[in-house]
Amino acid sequence: MGAYFKELFSGTKSLFVGLQITFGQMLKPLVTQQYPHEISTMTPRFRGHIELIPKEDGTTKCIVCGMCQRSCPSGCITVAGEKREGVKGKVLTKYRLDFTKCSLCGMCVESCRPGAITFSKEYNLASTRKEDYTFDLLKRLEEKAK
Ligand code: SF4
Ligand code: SF4
Repeated sequence: MGAYFKELFSGTKSLFVGLQITFGQMLKPLVTQQYPHEISTMTPRFRGHIELIPKEDGTTKCIVCGMCQRSCPSGCITVAGEKREGVKGKVLTKYRLDFTKCSLCGMCVESCRPGAITFSKEYNLASTRKEDYTFDLLKRLEEKAK
């Protein structure tokens, strides 16, 4: 009889301990995110693929010096520009990034003196096609400015 009550007491106790944990969790703020319906905000130091930073008028800050291309240890970046009449310096005509080779080392961002590139907050890349990871960053910038 004594063993019966001991077991009953221990079962009831564990039931209340379980309920206490359940109700405790119910009162805590939600941490589960309804991905992909909710977009995550990445931390300030998150490194997505690089992107061009626009000026106030939406054009690029890039002066086509080529430092990012030269400093990239993986050869991911191809930059091209041209001289245009009435425009001081070169105008960027191509900024291609092969993200399949990028190690997110940051050498390109560090070497850019005008501060024309930064890491994006893009975390949502998924594709089985290699070509989907080659980005035309100038085109992306122009599309963003529209
Ligand atoms: S982060 Fe590094 S590997 Fe990636 S493009 Fe820049 S320099 Fe190249
Ligand atoms: S280092 Fe900066 S300014 Fe120079 S080509 Fe690269 S992005 Fe443009």
